[in-house]
Amino acid sequence: MAPQVLIIDDNALNLKLTSDVLRGEGFAVQEAQDAEEARDILKRGVPDLILLDIALPGMDGLTLTRLLKAEARLSHIPIVALTASAMKGDEDKALAAGCVGYITKPIDTRRFGSLVRKFLTPGVK
Ligand SMILES: [Mg+2]
Repeated sequence: MAPQVLIIDDNALNLKLTSDVLRGEGFAVQEAQDAEEARDILKRGVPDLILLDIALPGMDGLTLTRLLKAEARLSHIPIVALTASAMKGDEDKALAAGCVGYITKPIDTRRFGSLVRKFLTPGVK
């Protein structure tokens, strides 16, 4: 079965790009534009991985990460932060909040799929 990924990004163009690339690499993708929409989606299912933009309107990505890590049903899902490369220090904050890793934007579309795949829990391929 295709790995299920939830992508959360408030930038519609980034969201479309990351979704298109991952769909092309065989992932099943769900999209959310903010934390609230993401939490609605997570009520209905548990993805294999979450890709999360840190800078979101409303609840930011770090706060959302801490919330998800505190929820027993969701705490096992690897969360990978999407950070703007200019924002050094964001990466440390993302790891401290509970993210398993980070990918800097702009993404390298040729490498993105394999990069994301590395963060999947073993057994989900
Ligand atoms: Mg953003």
